[in-house]
Amino acid sequence: MRVYADNAATTPISEHAKAEMIKYMDAEYENASSLHSFGQSAAAALAEARERIGKCIGADAGEIYFTSGGSEADNQAIISAAHFGAKKNKKHIISTKIEHHAVLHTLDRLKKEGYEVTLLEVDKNGLITADQVRDAIREDTCLVTVMFANNEIGTIMPIAEIGAICREKKIPFHTDAVQAAGHLHIDVKAMNIDMLSISAHKFHGPKGIGALYCRRGAYIEAIISGGAQEKGKRAGTENLPAIMGMAAALEDAVASIDENAEKLCKMRDKLICELSKIEKTIVNGDRVKRLPGNVNMCFQGIEGESLLLMLDMYGIAASSGSACTSGSLDPSHVLLALGLPHAVAHGSLRLSLSEYTTEAEVDHIIECVPKVVERLREMSPVWERILRGEEIL
Ligand SMILES: *Cc1c(COP(=O)(O)O)cnc(C)c1O
Repeated sequence: MRVYADNAATTPISEHAKAEMIKYMDAEYENASSLHSFGQSAAAALAEARERIGKCIGADAGEIYFTSGGSEADNQAIISAAHFGAKKNKKHIISTKIEHHAVLHTLDRLKKEGYEVTLLEVDKNGLITADQVRDAIREDTCLVTVMFANNEIGTIMPIAEIGAICREKKIPFHTDAVQAAGHLHIDVKAMNIDMLSISAHKFHGPKGIGALYCRRGAYIEAIISGGAQEKGKRAGTENLPAIMGMAAALEDAVASIDENAEKLCKMRDKLICELSKIEKTIVNGDRVKRLPGNVNMCFQGIEGESLLLMLDMYGIAASSGSACTSGSLDPSHVLLALGLPHAVAHGSLRLSLSEYTTEAEVDHIIECVPKVVERLREMSPVWERILRGEEIL
């Protein structure tokens, strides 16, 4: 049995999105900027996609800018707000310790350019409060950027409350909603969101396409210069097949959002309940304010990498928070922000489900993980010490 439980990394493309893409690759290959009627039909499709995508998050068509994905949308939103702030001598940005690297590394760049960044601490459940944001706001704050839902531990932030505070204080508010779009209800107007990033490949759309919502009147600037596409805010011939694939995937996801959430929450909670029976195990992230498909746990005394490799042999594709594969031995910044000791954070496992996940697949995971954890603990140099009650850091 092959079980794909790494949907927070990317999802398989839906048949509907794929068919849409092929249609626009075959018949509607023209450039939407061309003046001939062929190009104008591509332009009409583009306008329609903008409208449909906007509708899914409560935005108008004119507020949607297509990008190459979530990372680019995050970069553009943050850099735009920072540059706009600098014009008024405001160079302070508020964010959190558990953002995606597309946000954190952009903030690092801005720090080198003289911006000051406050990264809010999360509590042990991986949440911040809106009051923390309120308390961190200063005269010179030019941006608040807080993710909608976390990609590792699935926690859902109080976005509407933060939005209300930012609107009251007249501070631009951006949210990285890459994990939320198509999975949680989003209404940019009701939630007072000024900018929001989404990425198609996290909701069964194609890779390499995303969008930045930017509220009418909010400032954005081009990161990529060139032609006048996207109202001059993002040069480059539009990837119409990918855009149409994204529109189809997002509409489908939003249409069945409650149904999928109900099914996924059941599977998620079954996994958490069953895998928690393994001794010396920690569940990471709030149990309630949590993405429907996210499971994240630490098994003391083992390494996440070994766990992933052994699960792979059982046909299970999962993920671990630690980043040894990327050449760093540091465990995930998200798990460390929860206050977990390094040794514990190293033994993490993330299982991320999608509406394609079946009961039988969940049962396969429940059967395999305890076996693999036990086997690894038998070989672990520290497991005996943990059982004796020693604290391993
Ligand atoms: C995947 C992801 C991104 C990056 O999106 P890409 O489209 O892969 O660039 C950004 N933020 C979060 C929370 C993500 O999960």
